[in-house]
Amino acid sequence: MKKNDFLRDAGNNTRLAHIGSEPSAYHGFVNPPVVHGSTVLFPDMATMEGRSQKYTYGTRATPTTDALCDALNELEGAVGTILVPSGLAAISVPFLAYLSAGDHALIVDSVYTPCRNFCDTMLKRLGVEVEYYDPAPGAGIETLIKPNTKLVHTEAPGSNTFEMQDIRAIAEVAHRHGCVVTMDNTWATPLYFRPLDFGVDVSIHATTKYPSGHSDIVMGSVSANAQYWPQLEEARILMGICGAPDDSYQILRGLRTMGIRLEHHQKSALSIAQWLEGRGEVARVLHPALPSFPGHEIWKRDFKGASGVFSFVLKTDAANARRKSHAFLDALTYFGLGYSWGGYESLAVLVSLSDRTICKAPSDGVVIRLQIGLEDVVDLQADLERGFAAAAAA
Ligand SMILES: *Cc1c(COP(=O)(O)O)cnc(C)c1O
Repeated sequence: MKKNDFLRDAGNNTRLAHIGSEPSAYHGFVNPPVVHGSTVLFPDMATMEGRSQKYTYGTRATPTTDALCDALNELEGAVGTILVPSGLAAISVPFLAYLSAGDHALIVDSVYTPCRNFCDTMLKRLGVEVEYYDPAPGAGIETLIKPNTKLVHTEAPGSNTFEMQDIRAIAEVAHRHGCVVTMDNTWATPLYFRPLDFGVDVSIHATTKYPSGHSDIVMGSVSANAQYWPQLEEARILMGICGAPDDSYQILRGLRTMGIRLEHHQKSALSIAQWLEGRGEVARVLHPALPSFPGHEIWKRDFKGASGVFSFVLKTDAANARRKSHAFLDALTYFGLGYSWGGYESLAVLVSLSDRTICKAPSDGVVIRLQIGLEDVVDLQADLERGFAAAAAA
């Protein structure tokens, strides 16, 4: 039996330690080489004419990008994966692969904001009709599907506000109407949710986040099932998009420890979320693993875990919102003020929900998003306490 057959039934950490690895192909070295290359030589004209060797040109694939794609295919249960230069490109490239002028696309309203910016500008300019939908109703999305609807984009939990979606129900309805279903699965990673097992056709990741794990790489990946792989691969080749060898190597390296990092992120984030729920300064904590959260039942039914990013609503009236939230964030020392997440260090950002058309901003305070890093929980809590004290004094 081949190693990959054993691996399919192995635990997450075992799989992460052995996927995308073929030491016997590289003189026994545990890790694949970082292959820098454009030109690949052919031994003779017959081989060149028939393109009958594994590697033909640097933009197509290298042993390094292949190792990462193999690993991601294993994790996602996908037929094929493409690497792209950022998580945002992992959204825009499949949209360009599957949508044409005159098509209608349904995009969840709690979507990652730069996805909305792409849809509202370039997609609209190319003649695609874009409509945002409420994440909550699940199969109820059927009422929005038109004869020209071609793509349903999901993201669960939603960016910044963490709304859950009934992915299986949405995918079933969408498929009945011939739509491709895409999902931004960056938050859960394939360790805590496997979109293709729930009917999704195309799983999207900002590998910038947990797979990288160290805030030093921007990269994205798109993994497709058998039906939607050929169109995705074709788009990649037509557009000349390829993964950089050094970045691919670093992401593969990050994957090895992603399981144990996520376990730590999960545990720390949940304990801080529970602690925040008991604080008088906090109106609500937006974390799918908390029983108080509206989407909790879906999370419990479908997901295997929670990562380390969530938000809370800092109580304040509109007149004081800016002053109090700035005082809170400026008082933090371990939590950096910065975008992105998935690294080893904690981050905090003030969330703007002004682009939302359905999932509007709460009226009882401001939303602050936290990424809980690998630091010790007591230190992070002390940091947040300094923030609350500063907000109260502001
Ligand atoms: C960060 C993020 C992206 C984009 O990733 P980049 O590599 O920063 O472009 C896409 N989707 C979600 C949900 C994200 O959080």
